[in-house]
Amino acid sequence: MRISKILERAKAGEQLSTQELVDLLSITDKNELQALYDCAYAIKEREVGTVAYFRGIIECSNICIKDCYYCGIRKSNRAVERFEMDEDEIFKEAVWAYKAEYGSCVIQSGERQDEEYISMIERVVKRIREATHGKLGITLSLGEQSEAVYRRWREAGAHRYLLRIETSNPELYAKFHPKDHLFETRKECLAALRRTGYQVGTGVMMGLPGQTMEDLVEDLLFLKRMDVDMVGMGPYIPHSDTPMGQEVRPYTDEQKKHALVLGLKMIAVTRIVLKDINIAAATALQALEYTGREQGLLCGANVIMPNVTETDYRPKYKLYDDKPCTDENSSLCRGCLSKRIKGIGETVGFGEWGDAPHFYKRTAK
Ligand code: SAH
Ligand code: SF4
Repeated sequence: MRISKILERAKAGEQLSTQELVDLLSITDKNELQALYDCAYAIKEREVGTVAYFRGIIECSNICIKDCYYCGIRKSNRAVERFEMDEDEIFKEAVWAYKAEYGSCVIQSGERQDEEYISMIERVVKRIREATHGKLGITLSLGEQSEAVYRRWREAGAHRYLLRIETSNPELYAKFHPKDHLFETRKECLAALRRTGYQVGTGVMMGLPGQTMEDLVEDLLFLKRMDVDMVGMGPYIPHSDTPMGQEVRPYTDEQKKHALVLGLKMIAVTRIVLKDINIAAATALQALEYTGREQGLLCGANVIMPNVTETDYRPKYKLYDDKPCTDENSSLCRGCLSKRIKGIGETVGFGEWGDAPHFYKRTAK
């Protein structure tokens, strides 16, 4: 009863209290869960429509100078065989995404701050922009950089940037990162990205050890205060060769289910609160259940990031255990994803940038 009243108010566009948001995230009843997802879907339909946009993700290197305790490609993981694509390989994959009519590509890698890498990215972004006549959207997800570097890449032609805050609780942030990875720096980077004119996407991981529903609601309110255009968030999944993964241990089937539902609830509540932004159904959802990303679309997400990385490199870019599609090639990914999306009654926004209505409203002010 209480939940249906909250959802009615949400649908009518009323602002929900912190406690109400906690209540939504705490739902366990099957019918109430479905009602939450349906409410989020109705808001998505009204605010952004039922077109799913593809962003072809190129995971171009697993070399990283950082040591985040949760991540499989952290600097101290000696079990990882490191790889680095050259400029031509990245370019080739971006052109593949363009020809496949993906509206955008995302270039993602471990973090590097050396000039050689920075200028390689700058060159390749320029080349992609020129070769696709500015039609392929270029998103970067290359970690923390100086404002000057963000500006160089922006001027080269990138227009969106993904950098998760991971958690908006500074104490949790400190628990999951080494001492020299500062929460404040992360926040400053997000501000610098905004100043340099990017559409900024951020997000968090859900299900971190010690994280509460209240923390997740605070995360949502953080995203709201940041006035973001895009959110990319996903469940935390242990990686066995990491300090956190050693403590948490691989998920049992029960834990996987729980993590998936929490991820879906968080997407739904994000749609309810932030309404007209783009929300990505993270690949991590699919690691928990094969149809996880489609379920994400049905709970309010409207962006999917199919992998366009060369198949040989994929197993080496393992941020967490059970990462899906590591043995499929890009055209298989395109085919099976499109089919699955049509299967849930949505269309794919082929060839479109698919910017969030929020971005247009914000910039028209
Ligand atoms: N180095 C860049 C981009 C690659 S990591 C960066 O850190 O921004 C991209 C995202 O992967 C991170 O933001 C983190 O939220 C996510 N990630 C890393 N390890 C993960 C894990 N074990 N489970 C789920 N997501 C993880
Ligand atoms: Fe590096 Fe990003 Fe992984 Fe942190 S999350 S270790 S910055 S790749």
